[in-house]
Amino acid sequence: MRIDNRDIPKGSKVRWNFLAAEMTVNKIEVPVTVINGVKEGPTVVITAGVHPNELIGQASTVRLAKELEPSEIAGTLIFVHIENPMGLQFKYANRSPLDNVNMNSVFPTGLEKGEDMGRDSLHLGISPTKQAADRIFKTFISLADWHVDMHGGELFEDLDFNIEILPIGEPVDEKTRALARMFKSEKIWEVPQGTIPQMPNYPGRGSAVAEANHMGIPSCFFEIGGEGRLRKGQVDQACDALRNMMMCVGMLEGEAVHVEPTVYSGGNVLFAQCGGLHYININSGDLVHKGQELGYTVGWDGEIISRDICPCDGLMTNMVVHGGVEPGDMLYVIANEC
Ligand SMILES: [Zn+2]
Repeated sequence: MRIDNRDIPKGSKVRWNFLAAEMTVNKIEVPVTVINGVKEGPTVVITAGVHPNELIGQASTVRLAKELEPSEIAGTLIFVHIENPMGLQFKYANRSPLDNVNMNSVFPTGLEKGEDMGRDSLHLGISPTKQAADRIFKTFISLADWHVDMHGGELFEDLDFNIEILPIGEPVDEKTRALARMFKSEKIWEVPQGTIPQMPNYPGRGSAVAEANHMGIPSCFFEIGGEGRLRKGQVDQACDALRNMMMCVGMLEGEAVHVEPTVYSGGNVLFAQCGGLHYININSGDLVHKGQELGYTVGWDGEIISRDICPCDGLMTNMVVHGGVEPGDMLYVIANEC
């Protein structure tokens, strides 16, 4: 097999730094591992670090690439260990410090669509982040029979483990729905475009998952961890879940475990209405209720100036836990109970 102009013989494991993009002087290189198994089987692509401080997924791919050997693999297993290395280098949440682009929105759509990327007007130019997304997608993700994109809470986010499916313009693909059930997650969140009223265009095209789905590749978001922390227990859990998925698709031998999940659909997002010091009453993973006070903001005179009232019954999947807020900051992401 040849990937990135490199021979990867059957029964071998190859790790290299993939040239993802150009900068003014140096290049952006992304560590990748390909395991070409001894037996025939599916191609599984696991990508991590598109949001650079969501570290549990990155650490899990590193551990699995070290542990798994070609002798136990049927098919081809591809890890892209971190897609946005500059974001991690500079501890820059969600985006790249090079061009301020959120890589999760610039994977190739095939559509001629301009972006302003913080510049003066819409244009069709490329940026380092967009170039890296394009090369990673075409070289690795497009080869997948199954694709998993590892996410979690970013630097200031407290997140509850769940698997997310984000269909755009068509019903959930049944193979993607099956994929979401392979990770032993008790929670699956389906978010068809337009089912979060406060973010009517979400989810949009341009994520690796959306573009893989658009090509007919089953693909989902694996969401675990947050706040830039690397908890060993969560890495253990993610590795175990990914191994279970590999058993389900016939890549690893062993008895896969099936967990019947609760499926959530659509949701609500609450944004801060005013600036100040923000207190939170709850934790991610809590079941919350319409009318419940989730938190509140205190002004610099010590008075409460705003209360966060929950708009629905649901599951608190993700919260921004930084205590300083300004209008428009995302505070809570709540998944609706079906
Ligand atoms: Zn993410």
